[in-house]
Amino acid sequence: SEELMITTEKMSIIGELAASVAHEIRNPLTSLKGFVQLMSSTKTVDASHLEIMMSEIDRINMISGEMLALGKKQDVHFRMEDAVSIMSHVNLLLQGEANMKNVRISFRDNQLPLPILCDQNQIKQVFLNLIKNAIEAMTEAGLIMITMEKTRKKVRVVIEDNGIGMEQERLDKLGEPFYSTKEKGTGLGLAVCFSIIKRHKGTIRFESAVGEGTTAIVEFPAAE
Ligand code: ADP
Ligand code: MG
Repeated sequence: SEELMITTEKMSIIGELAASVAHEIRNPLTSLKGFVQLMSSTKTVDASHLEIMMSEIDRINMISGEMLALGKKQDVHFRMEDAVSIMSHVNLLLQGEANMKNVRISFRDNQLPLPILCDQNQIKQVFLNLIKNAIEAMTEAGLIMITMEKTRKKVRVVIEDNGIGMEQERLDKLGEPFYSTKEKGTGLGLAVCFSIIKRHKGTIRFESAVGEGTTAIVEFPAAE
């Protein structure tokens, strides 16, 4: 329905690269803040603290340098790819994690192949993040049902889980960078998905009910 619709527009603010950088520099920044707070409360400067602070600054410097280099090298290749085989690869990658959590990933009579014009690695990332969230939403043995189909002009990928689900308030926040309800979550998974899908001129929306589960619906323009 309309209010459950989440547009990919929300996620135009940051790119994937900015997202990873922000996440990676969080720890050294937290540590730096701690030392600054300590200094301002004790009004003293400890040489060994300064040394740690310097190395934290070096770390931030290094990380951002690496990320920038990565961004430059990581060229994007838009090619005709089969969405079904990308999905099976992701499925393979997540089998271990799914098994450990007693989660079954099942495919509903998918047609094959479903060609889309895309960067394979980016689409892999999208499927990976969505299925990871589905696995993490499970409290006990769960089922993730994946349906891939071609409509008249679109390739539709539906990822359905029977996990904890979400109320409307949470649904509205999906895709906001750093929004996470998990203890160790980054809140970047969906932000990255939104930005990639937008880049592919696709759409994503979620439907969910608390205690019943969540469905993510991704649509890409179908290739000829
Ligand atoms: P993270 O997984 O690091 O928390 P994400 O951007 O992937 O960050 O997801 C953001 C939040 O959206 C999650 O913390 C969770 O609250 C909610 N969420 C995403 N997918 C699901 C899902 N399948 N079921 C329930 N909640 C979900
Ligand atoms: Mg996630």
